[in-house]
Amino acid sequence: MTNPAPSDAQQRRSQPAIVCYQVNQLPAFDPSLYAQARDSLTKIDEVIVAPRDAATFTVKAGQFFRIVSVEGSQVGDLNLWNAHDLNERFFSGKTRQLHATHVSTGDRLWSNLPSMRPLATITHDTLDWYGFDEDGGGVHDVIGTRCDPYTNYQLNGVDYHYCCHSNLTRALAAHTQTSLVEAEPHIHDVLNVFMCTGFTLDTHQYFMKASPVRPGDYLEMFAEIDLLGALSACPGGNCGSSHSDDSTPCYPLVVEVYESAEGTLQGWQSPAINGYDKTHGV
Ligand SMILES: [Zn+2]
Repeated sequence: MTNPAPSDAQQRRSQPAIVCYQVNQLPAFDPSLYAQARDSLTKIDEVIVAPRDAATFTVKAGQFFRIVSVEGSQVGDLNLWNAHDLNERFFSGKTRQLHATHVSTGDRLWSNLPSMRPLATITHDTLDWYGFDEDGGGVHDVIGTRCDPYTNYQLNGVDYHYCCHSNLTRALAAHTQTSLVEAEPHIHDVLNVFMCTGFTLDTHQYFMKASPVRPGDYLEMFAEIDLLGALSACPGGNCGSSHSDDSTPCYPLVVEVYESAEGTLQGWQSPAINGYDKTHGV
């Protein structure tokens, strides 16, 4: 710090904090709608994500999917796209602004501009008991990006090929049968499933700590539109020590897709794209 505080510094600092977005205008989360459907779920698909690798999965609008911890404590990095248009994808920054740094039941995963609509709604979270710990840490953050080989190279000067960014790139390229060069720009900031993170209280730096997730835990979402998903089982494992290397124990993750009984989603409609007229004042 090089500048002395002005005489009214205390007064300037003591202004009230205002929540930026009043979210009561957003489509309301109706737990009873999803609860009725959840009572009649049938598993219709299962995808296993190998450690230090990623896999894609598809979920139709109106279906549910669960990201399930199996075998050991493991963090997952999730990307979501409109299954019919990869240009519409998960927007972690806006999701953070509308909801919070960490998401749980009732929160939506929003898509980018100009579509900006809920892609998915979180309908169950077995880790919702965690809340925020003494360090300010919580689970399922939308503040981190994803581990990637470029940052790793910048910091460590070595190539590492199994960061979540690369895992997601390989998985999307395989799914879309395109090259890595074509697939890579579609990889975007993730939902850090099961990851326990926050900002240090003194220096406000991004931190991680060992995830509280245990086999059997899951994060469940409802697909609001037809979705293509990609999930990476992070090379950081439970992210309690390091990432971007092969030294940490890693475990698979499972994505389960469920369908509810006919007639249990009465009143639900897939959300339309955002209504702004896009004239931008011209
Ligand atoms: Zn990762």
